[in-house]
Amino acid sequence: MLQIQDQSLRHVATAHLAQTMSLLALSNQELQEKVLEELAENPALELLEDLVCPICKKRLPAHGPCPKCSSPKAGEDSVVFISPRDGGGSLRYEDDAEELEPAAPESLALHVLEQLAAELDVEDRPIAAYILSSLDDDGFLPDAPPLLARELRAPLEQIKSVIELIAHVDPAGLGTSGPRAALLAQLDLLRPDDPQVILSRQILETEFEQLARRDFQTIAIDLNVGVAKARRAAAFIQEMLNPYPARAFWGSGRSPVGADPNVYYAPDILITHRSKGPLVVEIFSSMPGWLRVNPHFRKALADADENHSEEWKKHLERAALFVKCLQQRNNTMRRLMEDLVENQRHFILDGDRHLQPMTRAKLAERLGVHESTVSRAVAHKGVALPDGRIVPLARFFDRSLSVRDRIKEIVKFEKKPMTDDQIAALLRRQGVKIARRTVAKYRTIEGILPARLRKPQASTA
Ligand SMILES: [Zn+2]
Repeated sequence: MLQIQDQSLRHVATAHLAQTMSLLALSNQELQEKVLEELAENPALELLEDLVCPICKKRLPAHGPCPKCSSPKAGEDSVVFISPRDGGGSLRYEDDAEELEPAAPESLALHVLEQLAAELDVEDRPIAAYILSSLDDDGFLPDAPPLLARELRAPLEQIKSVIELIAHVDPAGLGTSGPRAALLAQLDLLRPDDPQVILSRQILETEFEQLARRDFQTIAIDLNVGVAKARRAAAFIQEMLNPYPARAFWGSGRSPVGADPNVYYAPDILITHRSKGPLVVEIFSSMPGWLRVNPHFRKALADADENHSEEWKKHLERAALFVKCLQQRNNTMRRLMEDLVENQRHFILDGDRHLQPMTRAKLAERLGVHESTVSRAVAHKGVALPDGRIVPLARFFDRSLSVRDRIKEIVKFEKKPMTDDQIAALLRRQGVKIARRTVAKYRTIEGILPARLRKPQASTA
């Protein structure tokens, strides 16, 4: 008898662990779907509209975080709490709006506007915004400039010059009429005196159809070059340029539009910081309201007839398990974030360069959990940082990030294009042990061209 009981206990423990683990790996939105599914299937589970603090279980009077759990204790420089709101819709609290609202996620339009901020006149800005909002998925402008001029009641020349500006920032070629124009815009950013660039431009300008057909013979004859040379130029165009600018890597997300895992429109976690105040970390719960085992259902079970009691008991057990696992998920997320804000405070406040090297295994050791628990907790979650960026939680573990940031800066301020070898040597002098091929790899991730294709900064000024 004792053994049977022991076995069923073990079964419950295993079910608990398995469910907690699977809930942990879900984003808030996925979790919300899961909760709704459970609610639909299980009459023993109920969602009350009353707001109850998920931590201390106190009823909360109005919309807003629990006053007790969300205020930092004296002397602590951060506070992490599970919020009763879901974060999916508006991120505003009724009365405390401005300060808590994070900016929009890193969107392509925003990324481009940021780069253009200094170059656009006040009257150009709405035109740029309009153009960026009308791009198709590939990054092309479906409407011809004269049409836009009429729609926006602006001179055609002005429209054209704004398109020119947009086409020449990262990702280059955006806002052009199609692949050929996009490729040409990208060539503008390379060294104009490079023979490969010169030939590629000729091919794009006069031999585009032959290029598409891979008819190198005709290209060679038309342009009076050898077939091998024409082939090499075609390979160069294919490898170095991207005919669909919006699908190229861009910005710090470095991920194409569409299948972009780095853009999280509704964060799962919100980190805010007021001057001199503590870091406030709000982990959104999946549902606004109080999910619990229905007490009436429990009472009804006592009076249930034989036919129903077995089934109802199952419902009840399942509801209790679900509530418990959700709580476990909350606890794990809270402990994880407490550790992360303590150890990555500078990264959160001061940017990518300050990311401390950290592994999921080390963090798991500190929390006393298995590494796979940390991996699941980190998976599929977006964090809104105090500067407004929404980044994947996994970025807290990206060891290449600070080095990539340094490489970006070195290239930004180089007088003359530096080779990967020179960059590696410079980093080594700064105490970063790095091989040339790693520099090459990180440079590619950041979308930086090799030295021979970069323009010297001094000559562009
Ligand atoms: Zn509370």
